[in-house]
Amino acid sequence: MKLCKTIADLKVEISSAKASGKTIGLVPTMGALHEGHASLIGAAASENDITVVSIFVNPTQFGEGEDLDSYPRTLDADCKLAEGMGADIVFAPTAKEMYPSEDMTWVEVTGDITKVLCGRSRPIHFRGVTTVVSKLFNLAEPTRAYFGQKDAQQVQVLKRMVKDLFFNLEMRIMPIVREADGLAKSSRNTYLSPAERQAALILSQSLKKAEEAFNGGEKASSKLVEIVEAHLKTEPMSDIDYVELLQLPDLTVAETEIKKPHLLAMAVRIGSTRLIDNIILG
Ligand code: AMP
Repeated sequence: MKLCKTIADLKVEISSAKASGKTIGLVPTMGALHEGHASLIGAAASENDITVVSIFVNPTQFGEGEDLDSYPRTLDADCKLAEGMGADIVFAPTAKEMYPSEDMTWVEVTGDITKVLCGRSRPIHFRGVTTVVSKLFNLAEPTRAYFGQKDAQQVQVLKRMVKDLFFNLEMRIMPIVREADGLAKSSRNTYLSPAERQAALILSQSLKKAEEAFNGGEKASSKLVEIVEAHLKTEPMSDIDYVELLQLPDLTVAETEIKKPHLLAMAVRIGSTRLIDNIILG
């Protein structure tokens, strides 16, 4: 496996892969890789000739007071995991490499799709994501790009961007990988103390409650949201940022009675750690 730290190094690899007609799978990540990332890398490796994993803690998607500085950085371990899952190239650029000048071009998806859910408390987040992912698409020239359903809003925003900007690639979305007890795997889980780790189970458990109610015949969207909120509140360490049920794919206001696929998504603080989780109903 090759580690490319500069755009120039990556370009050499991509040009040679393209010249020999190889397909390229791109897995954009911020590193601190875990089994969730591993599932994306494994899928990319099985569906493409060349698998590129980018590892970049993207400063433009972090707001003031967020965890940009404390975000875990574990490049050596990440390279081992990526190689073990079949990656051919790890692209780990510096911020200067990706953002050479303070005057810069933004790629921004406008409208409610970026304003609801995480967009409410993280107003600049998705502009940072779409900008960096556009740069990565242009650099890695992927045939297919791999993202996790864990970041459900990011998936819908990026799909919109790909459609609107005519990016010539296939978006591949992988299911959420969870710990045995249900907690969605996340690089941010390392912030949790043992007591917080236990308390964090309330996220997946409350989604399960809603799913059970839905499967048992409860179709009223307001009732389903209520069930989740009520269960989250039974955990004293939880502090709800949002619980929302929205129509897919555009994340518009839910139907009163759920008849087609909806996203039930939440962000909850456990101590000082903000965690997200979601399921699709319908
Ligand atoms: P991140 O490094 O957190 O930016 O995540 C990089 C990619 O891995 C994103 O597409 C995430 O949605 C995906 N991902 C993160 N955690 C999981 C998980 N538990 N299951 C599936 N995909 C995940």
